[in-house]
Amino acid sequence: MGAIAALATAGCGGGRSAPQRLAGRAPHRPAASSIQRRRALGVRGVVPASVPVLGFHEIRNPPPGARYPELYLDPAKFARIVSWLRQRGFQAVTLERVIRAWRGRATLPERPVVLTFDDGYASVYRFAFPVLQRLHWPGVLNLELAELHSPDGLRPPEVRALYSAGWEIASHTLTHPDLTQASAPQLRHELVGSRRLISRLFGVQASDFCYPAGRFDRRVERAVAAAGYRAAQTELPGLAARSDDPLALRRIMIRRDEPLATVFSLLSRVRGAALSAAPVVRTAPGR
Ligand SMILES: [Zn+2]
Repeated sequence: MGAIAALATAGCGGGRSAPQRLAGRAPHRPAASSIQRRRALGVRGVVPASVPVLGFHEIRNPPPGARYPELYLDPAKFARIVSWLRQRGFQAVTLERVIRAWRGRATLPERPVVLTFDDGYASVYRFAFPVLQRLHWPGVLNLELAELHSPDGLRPPEVRALYSAGWEIASHTLTHPDLTQASAPQLRHELVGSRRLISRLFGVQASDFCYPAGRFDRRVERAVAAAGYRAAQTELPGLAARSDDPLALRRIMIRRDEPLATVFSLLSRVRGAALSAAPVVRTAPGR
């Protein structure tokens, strides 16, 4: 808890494995014809090689006795982060769009940022959604399906409203287990079952995944790929980089006690495609 970890530099290297080793995965580099086609069409194709992916949980202040108070963020603080991003020219996009852009099938704004919300809390709909709606910015909901039945969780119509507003719905499993400890049948159930349920409830083919509490290993990664996901988010600190394993994308987790100055200092170093220095962020195991 609360360990200070140094962020690696641009692209954060450290891809845990080459994407090529995963069978059936599309190459990262856009085909020359795709680039030529975009040029011919005059489309301004900006594809930064690394993108900040911010990670949030609850967007409200923790109630007394909250089990994980560090995973709550004051709505005013959230609004300040969004306002800061907008003023500096950032524009939120979905992770799905980033992955497509990295494969030559989409473009990105000059300074893209991805805002992800783990688990599926009602506070996200209540406090984060209106702030993002004003800017027409999408978020990424990393939905643990069991949250749909929890008192603090989103309800299906709220998830549908987020999706209708352009949000991405990604899977965060059915019940949020530590996947590295799951048996093979349980692993498959959590990965395939959550994808099927998202499809059934919301008519969405989830293309991205988020590891519960950021816990994964190579066996889990292989199962995530086999279940049909194209990319997966971790809690490893750093920018998500095109050169990294798409099933081990880094994020900048925003904790309650994280001074905004630290977050802003880190993000102000993101210049188009690179993180120019090695700032320090606080990391803690999350939910
Ligand atoms: Zn979680």
